[in-house]
Amino acid sequence: MASIASNIEAIREQITSACLSAGRDPAEVRLIAVSKTKPATLVKEAFDAGQIEFGESYVQEFLDKCQDPLLENLPLEWHFIGHLQSNKVRSIIDKVSLVHGIDKLSTAEELSKRAIQHNLQVDYLLEVNTSGEASKYGMHPDEVVAAAESLFSMPNITLRGLMTIASPERAEAQEEFRNLRLLLESLQEIAPDPSKLTELSMGMSGDFEDAIHEGATMIRIGSAIFGWR
Ligand SMILES: *Cc1c(COP(=O)(O)O)cnc(C)c1O
Repeated sequence: MASIASNIEAIREQITSACLSAGRDPAEVRLIAVSKTKPATLVKEAFDAGQIEFGESYVQEFLDKCQDPLLENLPLEWHFIGHLQSNKVRSIIDKVSLVHGIDKLSTAEELSKRAIQHNLQVDYLLEVNTSGEASKYGMHPDEVVAAAESLFSMPNITLRGLMTIASPERAEAQEEFRNLRLLLESLQEIAPDPSKLTELSMGMSGDFEDAIHEGATMIRIGSAIFGWR
């Protein structure tokens, strides 16, 4: 089996060539290594291969892992990429560098409330259900612009961009990535500070090259780095 280090190297090469063929600077795309279900030892292995940013989806697993003695003193940046329920916000808020999975005004309000309590400034992304699949989380694309006004006004939290999980079918996924980018562009037109609203978290092991072509600034890669779950 290929090592985690060689998997990361291979992904980084693919990111670079996807960027070059899309006329983009590879420095614009951040690799988030999705370590859900994988033990701290493998996160450490990825860190030793130069990986700093990790994504986790489940609150309890995330808390256990980021406080694991093997990892807690490393300069890791944790992204919470799972669906976040309001009642879990306070347990992760001081441990994450970016929350990807906010999909309701009420959860954003809770994030803001807890950020104020902890005297923190918290960055987050709004998850959008670009595929319209009922089984997926995310705000409906038609509701995003209307919600933005409230989101922009919430204290101590900053909307940095949008996140989506695309359909398995390639042509559909490409269209969904494009639609997420167009939605971000319409938000930038009404944002108080568009320079802060620039992130597109889209693309996973199976579709990140297409996501890069459509403007992804963060790709979330699990199985292509850590193996199957
Ligand atoms: C699990 C997960 C990923 C990684 O998926 P892979 O196909 O293993 O790369 C990315 N994003 C989210 C939100 C996930 O839950």
